[in-house]
Amino acid sequence: MSRRTSRPRRPSAASARTASAAEITAASPCPCGLPAEYGACCGRLHAGAAAPTCEALMRSRYAAFAVRDAAYLLRTWHPGTRPAVLDLDPGVRWERLEILGTTEGSAFHTTGTVTFRAHFKDNGRADSLHEKSRFVRHEGAWVYESAVFAD
Ligand SMILES: [Zn+2]
Repeated sequence: MSRRTSRPRRPSAASARTASAAEITAASPCPCGLPAEYGACCGRLHAGAAAPTCEALMRSRYAAFAVRDAAYLLRTWHPGTRPAVLDLDPGVRWERLEILGTTEGSAFHTTGTVTFRAHFKDNGRADSLHEKSRFVRHEGAWVYESAVFAD
């Protein structure tokens, strides 16, 4: 998932980001949709724990969009395809993640894919992103490489 904004940043961007991120605490339901608290689920990965599978990394990257952790998104992005900066759109609220399918991506693999639909609201308007993401191992850790397709 690599959704980026092409719109110019509004003056209120910094304050909007802070307010939105503050809504999710360690005790909140994890944005990734698993029945766990954020602090015990994707929050662990955001704090430095390794993702055991591609699906776990995908969920944690979705959750990072939800909590606006751009640094996590960048460090779990393959250096060959990673953007120099990631400007998260403060007008986008990530609402729900559906995992539609996975291939490989376990402890025994070096590549894997995750197909998902990510639901969001863009300044109040409901929309979704349907993507098949490709992940690879880089220096032992799963990283996002690219979208096989996205619509
Ligand atoms: Zn989670």
